[in-house]
Amino acid sequence: MLVLNGAAASLFKTKRGSVPAPLAETHNYDVAIIGAGPVGLFAVFECGMLDMRCAVFDALPQPGGQCAALYPEKPIYDIPGYPRIDAVELVERLSEQAAPVRAGFLPRACGHPPRTRG
Ligand SMILES: Cc1cc2nc3c(=O)[nH]c(=O)nc-3n(C[C@H](O)[C@H](O)[C@H](O)COP(=O)(O)OP(=O)(O)OC[C@H]3O[C@@H](n4cnc5c(N)ncnc54)[C@H](O)[C@@H]3O)c2cc1C
Repeated sequence: MLVLNGAAASLFKTKRGSVPAPLAETHNYDVAIIGAGPVGLFAVFECGMLDMRCAVFDALPQPGGQCAALYPEKPIYDIPGYPRIDAVELVERLSEQAAPVRAGFLPRACGHPPRTRG
């Protein structure tokens, strides 16, 4: 079991970019997920199906990975069940799907800051 103190907060309280306020409490988790991209978000849902609670770590301040950070307005055509969906909407749908699962989101809690070339 993973025990985290401090900056754990609900992942799905906010939309597009705002970071939930930290909770000054201790939380217990079964699974640590590194990365709140599409795969990490769906992993939260799947863990919930197995009754496991997740702590999600990301170097970025918002969930969504590449979809949110690099191409939110780009249409995607290869998601099963969606003939066309914008990247930002896919992130919102994944977040909505995982919302019933109680998870903690720890933005910028691990990983390295983006590197610049030059
Ligand atoms: C311009 C562009 C267009 C694309 N178009 C399509 C498309 O049309 N269809 C399609 O299927 N795919 C497309 N892709 C690819 C798609 O975006 C990726 O396959 C998808 O985002 C992978 O999801 P993921 O959750 O595995 O990883 P990511 O989206 O990369 O998310 C990983 C997350 O983990 C975090 N992270 C990584 N390492 C650490 C660490 N050590 N500590 C903390 N956090 C960490 C990152 O900050 C990030 O938020 C496109 C990609 C780009 C760049």
